[in-house]
Amino acid sequence: MSKLVVVSRHGDVAVVTIQNPPVNALSPGVPEGIGESISSAAHDPEVMAVVLIGGGRTFIAGADIKELEKAASGASHSGPDLHALLQQIEDCPKPVVMAIHGTALGGGLEVAMAGHFRVASADAQMGQPEVNLGIIPGAEGTQRLPRLVGLAAAVDMCVSGKPLNAQTAMSLGLIDKVVQGDLLEGAVEFAREKAAAGGPPPKTRERAVETGADGVAPILTAGREQARKTRRNQTAPLKALQALEAATLPFEQGWKKEREIMRLCLASDQARASIHAFFAERAVSKIADLPKDTPAYEIRKVAIVGAGAMGGGIAMACANAGIAVVLKDADDSALDRGMAAIAKNYESSVKRGRFSKEIMERRMALIHPQLSYDGFESADLILEAVFESMALKKDIFGAIGMLAKADCILATNTSTLDIDQIAATTPRPHMVVGLHFFNPAHVMRLVEIVRGAATGKPVLATALALAKKLGKVGVVVGNCRGFVGNRMMLPYLREAQLLVEDGATPAQVDKALYDFGMAMGPFAVDDLGGIDVLWRVRQEWKHLETPGMRQPLVHDKLYHMGRLGQKTGKGWYVYDENRQPKPDPEVETLIESTAREAGIARRSISDQEIIERCIYTLIDEGARILEEGYAQRAADIDVIYLTGYGFPAYLGGPMWRADAIGLKKILDRILEFRKSVGEWWEPAPLLRDLAERGETFAAWDAARS
Ligand code: NAD
Repeated sequence: MSKLVVVSRHGDVAVVTIQNPPVNALSPGVPEGIGESISSAAHDPEVMAVVLIGGGRTFIAGADIKELEKAASGASHSGPDLHALLQQIEDCPKPVVMAIHGTALGGGLEVAMAGHFRVASADAQMGQPEVNLGIIPGAEGTQRLPRLVGLAAAVDMCVSGKPLNAQTAMSLGLIDKVVQGDLLEGAVEFAREKAAAGGPPPKTRERAVETGADGVAPILTAGREQARKTRRNQTAPLKALQALEAATLPFEQGWKKEREIMRLCLASDQARASIHAFFAERAVSKIADLPKDTPAYEIRKVAIVGAGAMGGGIAMACANAGIAVVLKDADDSALDRGMAAIAKNYESSVKRGRFSKEIMERRMALIHPQLSYDGFESADLILEAVFESMALKKDIFGAIGMLAKADCILATNTSTLDIDQIAATTPRPHMVVGLHFFNPAHVMRLVEIVRGAATGKPVLATALALAKKLGKVGVVVGNCRGFVGNRMMLPYLREAQLLVEDGATPAQVDKALYDFGMAMGPFAVDDLGGIDVLWRVRQEWKHLETPGMRQPLVHDKLYHMGRLGQKTGKGWYVYDENRQPKPDPEVETLIESTAREAGIARRSISDQEIIERCIYTLIDEGARILEEGYAQRAADIDVIYLTGYGFPAYLGGPMWRADAIGLKKILDRILEFRKSVGEWWEPAPLLRDLAERGETFAAWDAARS
């Protein structure tokens, strides 16, 4: 028998334990092991009942996503096939009790639902998150779940992908008992009771689907509406609804229908892209020259300079992870403002029921506001988040470089400045690193970890570990202007503005890119970040612009008119009291007159042109970054865009999307734009090279891993 599954006896109950750490995924060998264990228990006259439980910290947390990846890439015909196993479990003549702790997600829950009974510890979580990978619950989850919880609850679970806690699962009928105390003992006792009660154990597949008084149609309509609102452009939730609808057929027909739909999902671009996004996020922490056993410093105390938007958000992120923070600002009013913003943020989370007032107070107590540098000498990490000015940052680093203990990491949250210049002001440049958080820093998952020329390996290892501890995704990037994310954003925003001067409107550009899948359009982004912020960056980098290259004109005018975006109620749009944007005729007139004065013949612009010009310029800059070595992998660039810039996971990130479109097609379009739009459309050498050789960014990554 497979060592991944072991059987022990607790009196007359056979206990089947999955031993596939860390999360007991359904890797090859696990389903087989379960099947053999169930079969031997069924035939053993001394066994009255079976308990199936996960060893270690969880029940079966889900399918083996590597197997799904193989199926999605065409390397195997379909996903893992659990039909025979699930049928075997359900047909076992002795009660099979699934004992759930940790998480039972996806395939894990599907196995659990084939048991005759389910018990769970109070902190267990159960769900069908497959939509996040562009697929549906494809091991009969769409058939058994509605039979246990009713069609409406099953629709909500499969479309949202969100897990339920044990109490909710109990109230919906997904589990039969919440076990207080030892789960295994409780499950064995429960199994014994069921065996003693006699009679054939109940099979989930023989239950009827509860649809409520109004029947199936309104539930599916509500599911489609939920998908439209919360999972824009995604095909998997709609496919899950089709499979759930099939649960109203006899089980034999239903699961076959589900299997067909699952095959279609696995063959879809969205599944491939989502699975890529899943693995890309897990691969970012592998750095070519950073061995796994590189020592890292422990971060117990963080000192932050600057209690503004970023300093405050980073302080919250640290406190949320249980790390003590000293938060310093230059004067009382700034410090009070910063602390008030933190309190307001926490209060709103308490109001929304995200955590208790007690947790809020514990977190607030970890943040110590002050005007002095007291306590900085014992900090493990000092992070600077003052205004974006090189002179100011050099001053601060000069001061903290003197105060910090020898093994204290010195970090800057700069979004544009040269880390090496900042590091040069301290006696310990090897301790300096960029930690580029995104706004709001307690929410956004991305941290660009900027590696300077002197940044030490232990510092890098610590930065990666810290990002993880904060629940964030740390991506190591090189020290170029704008690093990776903002460097790519700049030509993207620029192209959006040129499109407007060429004849589109801000609303049309925003809608086209929103419909493409971006969380927000570029003009909405510019208004949110502040027209002045982008204006300042552009001033700083003006000397780097190619002489004679066409530059957008309207942005500067908005800046000089004081239309700074949401903060002034007007920018590219005009905002009402609820911060809802409306197109502003004054801006339309300004665009028209600016174009006329510059001799630009405005024309009608298609949505396709908008998407191609904006997204291809993003991809092109990504290719330059990759070639210059400022990102380690194309997949790292994808992760940056997925976690920090609102690029949709079902498109896999800009570089993955480029491969899906075809690099040759993109190259040809860029060359056409060079003729029809302007000579700045010069393809990146790496993009040209890969396209001409029929290669992909994914292959480029693979060759270097
Ligand atoms: P902010 O204006 O909200 O806050 C800056 C804070 O620094 C203010 O409270 C100010 O009083 C304080 N400060 C200034 N000089 C100081 C000094 N000598 N000592 C102590 N405190 C001082 O700015 P922000 O948006 O939080 O940006 C901070 C940094 O983070 C900048 O480098 C910025 O480029 C970067 N950043 C900003 C964002 C963003 O979206 N806002 C995103 C990523 C990175």
